[in-house]
Amino acid sequence: MFTEKSQIDSIDRRAHILDLTSEQLSQWLQTNGQAKYRLPQILNWLYERRAESFEAMSDLPKGLRSLLDSEFRLWTTSLATHKKADDGTEKLLLTLSDGAQIECVLLREENRRSVCVSSQVGCAMGCVFCASGLDGVDRNLTRGEILEQMLRLQRLLPNEERLSHVVMMGMGEPLANLNSVLSALDVASHELGLGISPRRITISTVGIPAAIDRLAQHSTPFHLAISLHAPNDSLRNRLVPVNRKIGIESILEAADRYFEATGRRITFEYVLLAGINDRESDARELTRRLAGRVSMLNVIPYNPVRGLPFATPTSSAIHAFRTVLMDAGVNVMFRQRKGDGIDAACGQLRRVTKDKVLDKN
Ligand code: SAH
Repeated sequence: MFTEKSQIDSIDRRAHILDLTSEQLSQWLQTNGQAKYRLPQILNWLYERRAESFEAMSDLPKGLRSLLDSEFRLWTTSLATHKKADDGTEKLLLTLSDGAQIECVLLREENRRSVCVSSQVGCAMGCVFCASGLDGVDRNLTRGEILEQMLRLQRLLPNEERLSHVVMMGMGEPLANLNSVLSALDVASHELGLGISPRRITISTVGIPAAIDRLAQHSTPFHLAISLHAPNDSLRNRLVPVNRKIGIESILEAADRYFEATGRRITFEYVLLAGINDRESDARELTRRLAGRVSMLNVIPYNPVRGLPFATPTSSAIHAFRTVLMDAGVNVMFRQRKGDGIDAACGQLRRVTKDKVLDKN
């Protein structure tokens, strides 16, 4: 009995302040007899002035600071691992309040300061080359947990540097957790939040047509990236198993509708796997598939995952693939790998940590 009680006592029941919308926070202030202008002050401390605690919000009355602290938590995660690569990439493995772990990454490229954020614990999509989905999905992240990743990474930057881009390319399928993802991204793009232009906020999806249509109706049009990885269904069915129920054609049609509704050019992503989808004939078929679409193709060399039977193509294979696309006039970008030494591809760090635990046992 005694043990059970002390376990219950140790659970922090305070709400996560990042889970509250600004309307809810405004309501809370009003209920507690606080002035309206406290809301922008608190938001400014959270998103702009990088407060580490309510106590640090020095222009709020002491009474309000301790009231906030008694009702809310600012941080719900703890830092499990922090890795830094020579190219400036930093990756955090965070432990959530229920013990689950997620990853997020800060990328530095010239003036860009991009964060790559997770939307779920694990992933249900089962892409055969990806580390995130190896054990399936445990749960969706809350709005607050998604925002907290951005704030933890933002606080790694010196004060004079701001986050410029957000990509939902960490663990999970963002369109399978659309409500929380949109709620968090609305804060990322809001002037009282992180103030990042929606053009610089990317939602990357395996391609779920009904959810793409919902996204097209959202008040803020974010940049959409669709993970294609194959020019035809027989290959895509092997690489991205959920494709069996969807099919490339219906994804491309949803992409067209998204473009019509938002005017935003779509990016298609294509992870190059040696000997699997990197032949020149694949490039030619891809060219035909994308013909007539206002889009960008982002080709990404595979980032090897321990235990998986895939490899990065040789640079001459990558070059040949690229030449076919360029000659056909496809709008294509070949992305450099970042953070190689620190398992920066999605799901990899959590995997390595899990493997180590397994190795030990
Ligand atoms: N579920 C979403 C977003 C997460 S993954 C999606 O499928 O788009 C973000 C991108 O990284 C996807 O294009 C995914 O296919 C790719 N990816 C996953 N594992 C990778 C690896 N080991 N190397 C390179 N890219 C990888």
